[in-house]
Amino acid sequence: MSWPEAGSHHLAMTSIQERCPACRHRLITTRFDTAFRMPDQSERLCFSIPGGLCEDCHQLYIDPELIELLDLGAGRCTFAIESDLVVQEQAWSA
Ligand SMILES: [Zn+2]
Repeated sequence: MSWPEAGSHHLAMTSIQERCPACRHRLITTRFDTAFRMPDQSERLCFSIPGGLCEDCHQLYIDPELIELLDLGAGRCTFAIESDLVVQEQAWSA
């Protein structure tokens, strides 16, 4: 049995930017609680990861260096929620 090469399917890896590279929509840059499905079907939970979420296409962007650090390169993000949602909402309304 062979797994697909790392990098064949996973979340987009790019430096965190102000705008979504796909649709140019503004990214929500904050910290996220995330779940990753690894190639061996195990789940990895990572909390308070800094990242950017596109409001439009719901793509999560995480710094590639951080992905490497957490050894998530082969994983696929299956779940992400803003860990400081309340703070973020206050920031938007200001
Ligand atoms: Zn987008």
